[in-house]
Amino acid sequence: MEKKIPVRGRFAPSPSGRMHLGNLWSCLLAWLAARSCSGEMVLRLEDLDPDRCRPAFCDQVMRDLEWLGLDWDGEPVYQSRRTEAYAQAFRALEAQGLVYPCFCTRAERLTASAPHRSDGTALYDGRCRSLTPAEREVLARTRRPAWRIHAPEETVLFSDLLQGVVSEQLAQDDFILRRSDGVYAYQLAVVVDDAAMGVTQVVRGSDLLSSTPRQLWLQQQLRLPHPEYAHVPLLLAPDGRRLAKRDRDLELGQLQEVYTAPELVGRLAHAAGLLPEYRPVSPRELLPLFSWDRVPKRDMVLSLDTPSSGAEAAQGTP
Ligand code: GLU
Repeated sequence: MEKKIPVRGRFAPSPSGRMHLGNLWSCLLAWLAARSCSGEMVLRLEDLDPDRCRPAFCDQVMRDLEWLGLDWDGEPVYQSRRTEAYAQAFRALEAQGLVYPCFCTRAERLTASAPHRSDGTALYDGRCRSLTPAEREVLARTRRPAWRIHAPEETVLFSDLLQGVVSEQLAQDDFILRRSDGVYAYQLAVVVDDAAMGVTQVVRGSDLLSSTPRQLWLQQQLRLPHPEYAHVPLLLAPDGRRLAKRDRDLELGQLQEVYTAPELVGRLAHAAGLLPEYRPVSPRELLPLFSWDRVPKRDMVLSLDTPSSGAEAAQGTP
């Protein structure tokens, strides 16, 4: 009989501010998915960006998860302390001839951008890929380059635990591995860390769906195992916008003034299809009720004020 690998899920919050309702929603689902099959859960603080992340936010994230009743195993991992591991992976990709310096400024990148992706972000046209060594040398005298990886034009197929079979373009978009200020980029760090932490299951918001083909491809280039993925629907603000930290949308500090943890968890669980009627619950009480079959696939507005109405599927969202 085939031996089932024990599940090891993860929380991977970016400590760039207080968590909002959408972050709590994906953390709750990630925890339920792992713990409902007696799996482990690890915590990684994605504090790579020194301009946006603060140590105080890391502590706050941990207090918030605990407040909600979500626990994890072992010590948290801080990405800001893992530069050497990212450098090693970067060098391995460089040795395969996949990495090149990009001297474009942001403004140039935008004008250089070819067609747009479906999410509206610009695709990089790869112009620095064909610079000669002499041209690179001249440019390097006045600019520090960012480092990009040459991504092939490929369609990547994968089976998502919630969305089913997903087909996504890796895109003709040479994504950044290292910024010009030396900071390693999310795509590289996440792949290195998921493997180093033994993560077998990644549960996260569907806004990261377009990152998954890149991560699967990077795992292949670095000979790292592929975890399984579940991309959960996004919770939207009542006007249909995505929740964002910068708008201080439904952030936990404000929510805590109005709701207890079981009240919030109960509302999220009702929206997740795990409770037919809203009632206050602890995450632990939800464990026997969790199943991906119940979780909705489409983005939705969660109206907190009217618990009985719960979640409404948002019209016109993908
Ligand atoms: N740090 C990312 C976030 O908070 C999540 C990254 C991931 O799950 O891969 O949105």
